Amino acid sequence: MENIEINQKINKYDIIHPKCVIYKYTELETGIYYIGSTTNKKQRHSNHKSDFYNENLPSYNKPFYVELRRQNKNINNCSYEIIKKYYDISRKELSKHEEEYIKLYKNDELNCNKYSAYTGLTQLEQIKKRQLEKKEEIKEYNKKFMREYYELNKDKILEQKRKKYEENKGKKIECHICKCSFLYHNKHNHYYSQKHKKNFDLFKIKNNIID
Ligand SMILES: [Zn+2]
Repeated sequence: MENIEINQKINKYDIIHPKCVIYKYTELETGIYYIGSTTNKKQRHSNHKSDFYNENLPSYNKPFYVELRRQNKNINNCSYEIIKKYYDISRKELSKHEEEYIKLYKNDELNCNKYSAYTGLTQLEQIKKRQLEKKEEIKEYNKKFMREYYELNKDKILEQKRKKYEENKGKKIECHICKCSFLYHNKHNHYYSQKHKKNFDLFKIKNNIID
């Protein structure tokens, strides 16, 4: 039991790795490069390839890959060079060393670590941008799908609506937040009213609900 507790407290960034490297990936024709670090050389190599080709991975939009694609270059035409080897250090320490190296090359325009020469955005900004675009794409898709679905099933949907209307005609329902009642057909008016919103906010504060 004690052991489990101790293990849980160990952060994976604090684990000591026997061999770590800082490396440089250089595209052979253009000379653009990327500086990275790894605790597992072999794994990192294959990750670079999947990152470059797999649009669904967030790292697909790393400035280095973006720049490679923009210049019609390929991850397979890159040289791999070890800048420095470290023994028995943690991921955390390795990251610090990596940062120092990246800083050294900061003003070199062939360096693709932080900013993309193409978009002028930082890595994080690019990832955020891509996520936002993806979200919009999904929204559009859903809209289109709903429209098509409605057109195909128009009669059925209208019939269901009519049935529901008849069933609930004159029915009263209660709002447990505002402790009041209203006609079923007015429920949207109630739930979107200022009064309900205000009461709902108070309810959330009272019950420690964070959204
Ligand atoms: Zn209410």
